[in-house]
Amino acid sequence: MDKQQEYVLRAIEERDIRFVRLWFTDVSGQLKSVAIAPAEVEGAFEEGIGFDGSAIEGLTRVFESDMLLAPDPSTFQMLPWREGANGVARMFCDVRTPDGEPARTDPRAVLERQIARVAEAGFTCYIHPEIEFYLVKRDEQGRIRPTDYAGYFDHVPGGTAHDFRRRAILMLEQMGISVEFSHHEGGPGQNEIDLRFADALSMADNIMTFRAVVEEVALQEGSMATFMPKPFADQFGSGMHTHFSLFEGDRNAFFDPSGQYQLSATGRAFIAGLLHHASEITAVTNQHVNSYKRLWGGGRGDEAPSYVCWGHNNRSALVRVPMHKPGKAQSVRVEYRGIDSSANPYLAYAVILAAGLKGIEEGYELPPEAEDDVWALSPLERKALGIHALPTSLKSAVAAMQGSDLVADTFGEDTFEYFLRNKRREYQAYDAQVTAFELDQFFPRS
Ligand code: GLU
Ligand code: MG
Ligand code: MG
Repeated sequence: MDKQQEYVLRAIEERDIRFVRLWFTDVSGQLKSVAIAPAEVEGAFEEGIGFDGSAIEGLTRVFESDMLLAPDPSTFQMLPWREGANGVARMFCDVRTPDGEPARTDPRAVLERQIARVAEAGFTCYIHPEIEFYLVKRDEQGRIRPTDYAGYFDHVPGGTAHDFRRRAILMLEQMGISVEFSHHEGGPGQNEIDLRFADALSMADNIMTFRAVVEEVALQEGSMATFMPKPFADQFGSGMHTHFSLFEGDRNAFFDPSGQYQLSATGRAFIAGLLHHASEITAVTNQHVNSYKRLWGGGRGDEAPSYVCWGHNNRSALVRVPMHKPGKAQSVRVEYRGIDSSANPYLAYAVILAAGLKGIEEGYELPPEAEDDVWALSPLERKALGIHALPTSLKSAVAAMQGSDLVADTFGEDTFEYFLRNKRREYQAYDAQVTAFELDQFFPRS
């Protein structure tokens, strides 16, 4: 038993915890939870807790359905919405096979493996996401409606969004997740909360916790939170722009005082990797049929990227080098703006890191930055500048991913095959629909 495990056992006793929830995430990004009695925790640390993996999306083939959950004691936290007597705590888990090997389709294991590759190359990665989501309610007809009609950065006197954000942030902080900014976003009922940077694995765990907290607080307030990428056709989508930096010890490897925007050659090659592999990883960063309505639905002014290019203050670019105070070496970073709020953070961060690292290892050349509003350019102008489009649908994103050695190598064969199968099922089911749009075309309402 190591120190952290001992700490957990002591905390369970001292804080009168009656239920310990073991959390893990399936390939589709759904949080899974099983509660165990405190008396089981010591055994869980030593041998893992057995469960039937065949019932979990993508986890196992039937012939190896017995799996183990191995709780990570460093993730032990009380659930603040369950405080008081009979407390509840949670730990994230790695999923293992009965002989102790990482499960081949555990998304957390995929990210852990990628982080190890980043570490072999001499780097530690820090991440912070800007998480956008909508607060909605059902009206009397059962239709989904936003909870308010405010806009970007609006201060809404007496508004529910303020109270909501305050409660959600206090809960997140109680769970050890620091928040940097929060504000009303551009769409009605749309909010954004930006988390303070953390290492990649902690951040993926934090995002899963964040979704649970935000959904919980919304329910308490009689509304619902949704991370759907584009809930309303005529409003902004919900992105999860994420900022990445690589450190070598204490030194930010993306910083070079003499570089353009103080970005180092390593930072440039990282961006080049993101651009080079952008289309292949889009099925992972934008994993739903609905994701493509964010990327392509609004076009100009919607601020979700549609084209593969980079820029400094260019909000139409897929990758951005955000403004930072001159000389602030630690804050030079790269923002990936493609990813949306419904992504599985473990898998999405794994492929983004793989693409960036590949750029560094292969010494990819960074093309010139896009200075213009790329939506305003004609297709010919974009072609002349070498700017190509991101996939326009889940189907084309899956087609780009299925030939990708980079994603296959990052995921491992089983996760790769399962992910593709699952996504093909999704777009085939969608393609089989006859929509209100089509009926309206053929049966115009008089
Ligand atoms: N909502 C936009 C998106 O979907 C982002 C707006 C912003 O720049 O914060 O990407
Ligand atoms: Mg935003
Ligand atoms: Mg941003």
